[in-house]
Amino acid sequence: MTSKRAFITGITGQDGAYLSQLLVEKGYEVHGLLRRSASADVVGTRLKWIGIADRVTLHDGNMMDLGSLIRIIETVEPVEIYNLAAQSFVKSSWQQPYLTGMTTGMGVTNMLEATRIVCPNARFYQASSSEMFGLIQEPIQSETTPFYPRSPYAAAKLYGHWMTVNYRESFGMHASSGILFNHESPLRGIEFVTRKITDGVARIKLGLIKKIALGNLDAKRDWGHARDYVKAMWLMTQQEQAGDYVVATGRTVTVRDFCNLAFAHVGLKAEDHIEIDPRFMRPAEVEVLHGNPAKAQKHLGWAAETSLEKLVSEMVEADLDRLVKHTHL
Ligand code: NDP
Ligand code: GDP
Repeated sequence: MTSKRAFITGITGQDGAYLSQLLVEKGYEVHGLLRRSASADVVGTRLKWIGIADRVTLHDGNMMDLGSLIRIIETVEPVEIYNLAAQSFVKSSWQQPYLTGMTTGMGVTNMLEATRIVCPNARFYQASSSEMFGLIQEPIQSETTPFYPRSPYAAAKLYGHWMTVNYRESFGMHASSGILFNHESPLRGIEFVTRKITDGVARIKLGLIKKIALGNLDAKRDWGHARDYVKAMWLMTQQEQAGDYVVATGRTVTVRDFCNLAFAHVGLKAEDHIEIDPRFMRPAEVEVLHGNPAKAQKHLGWAAETSLEKLVSEMVEADLDRLVKHTHL
């Protein structure tokens, strides 16, 4: 049995798949949390897509069930724990604020408690979010920028962030918080704007639909590639001291710019195929996010490797391929 054992919550999500791939490549024995679903056929789709479903071990449990987390951690005895599980979609967090608070917020406390009780020396990574900056207090956000959450999701993430800091300071745990800006990939959930656009562009190109309905095209995001961002998570757990790090590309563009790039990739014009639908507007918007990754660059030696242009083409190509092969994710 290898001594490098990692436990990942949220292993069936976008980042869970890329992180598992990275850790398997590095020789880790990878274990993950699986919440029971009646739809067994959709479980682990991303892990299958990325080709490592048979290289990871999944354990039944739930972020809201502390006993299940304690039992899994006792069984696995991990040296590193990556807490990625969350209700992660901002828009849904207004529809399900309680569930979001329990999963995305209290779930972090459950994981911190399970770690403190069973293996306090394990290195802990918490998936915090640039959404915590919300109504931005500085034009470019770093680790020292004050937070101003603008959704139940962001408020829950902020609680999880501060609990992580508190467990580090109170109990001396090696607990780091990665304040990650938006990161995308062909494995991004279809409800997020980037994947909705690239899937829509592929469908339009193949003649399956004519238009994509979107909300606020002026919102600006600092979009990177999930494959690059999971490397930053791993680097944080390798440091002698735990800490908080902004992980971003340092470039921000509008949703409209993202559309233009995606449509241009297949030789079409975005303005011919987009319609605005108020259903996709939000009760409170985060207009701009723009990160400063200087600390991660300096301390972790991390930098985003994938350009926005490359990210967009990879996503459009993957969606075209899936639609042609009827292997839709
Ligand atoms: P996803 O939405 O793709 O994955 C979320 C994961 O959490 C899934 O594996 C999901 O399981 C799991 N999960 C949700 N609720 C529970 C629960 N009650 N018990 C157990 N597992 C649960 O998210 P990403 O991979 O994109 O993001 C990973 C983390 O990073 C999240 O915490 C997200 O909020 C955060 N983050 C993401 C950013 C991004 O741009 N992607 C930016 C900043 C932070 P299931 O498959 O069963 O639904
Ligand atoms: P978020 O930054 O975590 O909320 O990621 P999303 O991909 O869900 O949204 C990014 C930005 O795109 C937000 O400012 C949204 O308001 C904006 N947006 C515009 N149209 C849409 C849409 O149709 N769906 C989603 N999800 N977001 C949209």
